[in-house]
Amino acid sequence: MKRTSVGDIKNLEGKEVELAGWVHARRDHGKIIFIDLRDRTGLVQIVFTPAVAGAVDLRLEYLIRVSGLVKKRPDSMVNDKLPNGAYEVEAKTLEIMNASEATPIPVDSDGYDINEESRMKYRYLDLRRERMQRNIRLRHEVSQFMRSYLTERGFWEIETPMLTKSTPEGARDFLVPSRLQPGKFYALPQSPQQYKQLLMVAGFEKYFQIARCFRDEDPRADRAYGEFTQLDLEMSFVTQEDILALAEDLFTKLVEKVFPDKHISQSPWPRISHKEAKAKYGSDKPDLRKEKNNPDELAFAWVVDFPLFTEQSEEDFFHGSGSAKFAPSHHMFTAPHPDDIPLLDTDPTKVRGLQHDLVLNGYEVGGGSIRIHERDIQEKIFNLIGFDEHQKGEFTHMLEAFTYGVPPHGGIAPGLDRFLFAVLGEKSIREVMAFPASAGGQISVMDAPSDVDPKQLNELHLKITKE
Ligand code: ASP
Repeated sequence: MKRTSVGDIKNLEGKEVELAGWVHARRDHGKIIFIDLRDRTGLVQIVFTPAVAGAVDLRLEYLIRVSGLVKKRPDSMVNDKLPNGAYEVEAKTLEIMNASEATPIPVDSDGYDINEESRMKYRYLDLRRERMQRNIRLRHEVSQFMRSYLTERGFWEIETPMLTKSTPEGARDFLVPSRLQPGKFYALPQSPQQYKQLLMVAGFEKYFQIARCFRDEDPRADRAYGEFTQLDLEMSFVTQEDILALAEDLFTKLVEKVFPDKHISQSPWPRISHKEAKAKYGSDKPDLRKEKNNPDELAFAWVVDFPLFTEQSEEDFFHGSGSAKFAPSHHMFTAPHPDDIPLLDTDPTKVRGLQHDLVLNGYEVGGGSIRIHERDIQEKIFNLIGFDEHQKGEFTHMLEAFTYGVPPHGGIAPGLDRFLFAVLGEKSIREVMAFPASAGGQISVMDAPSDVDPKQLNELHLKITKE
């Protein structure tokens, strides 16, 4: 017999079905034993009479296969709260496919009150809980929506390397030693920024990628340690307006399709200059919800007209030399506003950048810009941020690429985890990731990072110097 999903039970009254799933709950009423069986589509009650052998042995989280008859429950027993609450399955056969030890953490609650370290160590159990199954399913639906939306509009999904060279987005890099070139290192990409621009030079015109980005910076509620995922996209021959219109339409349709219970408080989305946001709300990612306690309200906004540069502070970790006065507000490939180009020579702090930030309920969920595509302007920016000849040399490939008929281009990269975290109003971004690193950078379920075999270090010509 073909396995039936629990979610389909409500349409199968009177039919014989075969189910497979986990024992979610168990109630022993003398001769009759009730089990709530769970698979990823939901729960259903199974009724075992003494005629079916083995039911007394069942424990929570046992994996079982049951065949039986779908029946309507007596009216007085109907549970309106559950999708299958009007039905139950009268078991005919039972097979224990795989027993389970008592689980170290419960999986039948929302999990918020369980210590996070245990949740992370036993993440494969933690993910069994309904809330986590829902979050991960919604994440899938969001990324699938993005893929088809962009594909229908002529975008191509193109992968870019993970083993690459440092891309300056302002954070610290993760380095990977090269075995074949001793003493040299790859960097994991902080974003595919340079590659996507090179793809525009290559003439692909419309690119996207659900891209993993790596940044060695401290975690926060809305930022996981180590890695995160962006919908990275780039287009040629566009204005800033085109990028904003595309992203606004994508997210509006996405919310309608995947989060029908949510409502967007203002459409078209408000556009606020950086100056106004700071003056009026004291933040460049203002929370514009009308009713802050309403979990279904989504207040999207654009923040534009950022200054191209911020004054660089001593502590700023940045690729420019320590003596530089300016750091890019977004990144060093962001184009200055065409009207402000003369100010680059006279008063760089007054130059506006063609940067756009996407804000949702007080979180920055994406950023992007129109890019520089002229070599001389790019060099000027490098000088202003204090690049020495060596640092400029690290970007020769970009400067050279800009000499071969480069289309004007621009893009944006909304964070996938960040967006889900904000839409779902989750407590931490780790709640929307399957296997996030803990706040201390530990992937507990795999016990990473870990020591490696000295042979591996030898091969890489590395020596650990810590005591
Ligand atoms: N690469 C940028 C970032 O990761 C996004 C962009 O400018 O498209 O923030």
